[in-house]
Amino acid sequence: MVNENNRIRVAVQKSGRLSEESLRLLTNCGIRLRPQKEELICQSDNFPLDLLRVRDDDIPGLIADGSCDFGIIGTNVLQEKSLQNGEKSRITHEIIEYLGFALCRLSISVPKNFPYQDIRCLEKCRIATSYPHLLSLFLKQYKLNIKITTLTGSVEIAPRLGIAEGICDLVSTGATLEANNLREVETIFKSQAVLIKSPNLLNPEKKIVSDFLQNKIKQFKKTNKTMS
Ligand code: ATP
Ligand code: ZN
Repeated sequence: MVNENNRIRVAVQKSGRLSEESLRLLTNCGIRLRPQKEELICQSDNFPLDLLRVRDDDIPGLIADGSCDFGIIGTNVLQEKSLQNGEKSRITHEIIEYLGFALCRLSISVPKNFPYQDIRCLEKCRIATSYPHLLSLFLKQYKLNIKITTLTGSVEIAPRLGIAEGICDLVSTGATLEANNLREVETIFKSQAVLIKSPNLLNPEKKIVSDFLQNKIKQFKKTNKTMS
């Protein structure tokens, strides 16, 4: 379903690590938004823009099929979904701007008592992750016999449960790893929030609003960079 009306639709994470900064960015661009806690759609009253509040994992799909015009998403999710869908023939989004928040890395970690020297030490091991495609792409170059175990959450407890010898998960401060007696050994992907746009053709009225929004965000990022 393509969003056919003249209002721009922006998909943001409803509740999580991207939510606050995503809203702050739009607000700082002069867009008035008053999302209620449980509201899925929130209309701006001073700009032809509707905010769609969803799980972050759903954002790449909503942009790809044109249900939403813009989305704010971590490059980790964007890249994992692209690899999963094997998108070679179809353009599913356009990256408009790297936003510089939600900075984190996807890393392989092992228990502190694991005698790790390099990646070859993981031969015949199992690695638990929510990012099987990114991990598989990274491991491809080494031609090792490593099994990827996909888990959607609580990846950090997999070694303690005996499900895997190592994990591949998002790290920012390293506090979760420390709390679970794990040591980060390989960084495989660096991530940050990004503004993406649907490849679907916009009607002329929407295009004007879309260009205006893009420029506002770019301008805001530029000014912010100069100030910091
Ligand atoms: P949802 O319910 O929307 O699916 P989630 O549990 O997948 O939420 P969050 O934990 O809120 O997602 O993380 C959202 C995004 O924030 C991540 O995909 C990543 O881009 C970024 N992020 C930044 N730091 C971290 C971190 N330390 N751990 C996890 N994600 C992080
Ligand atoms: Zn998610």
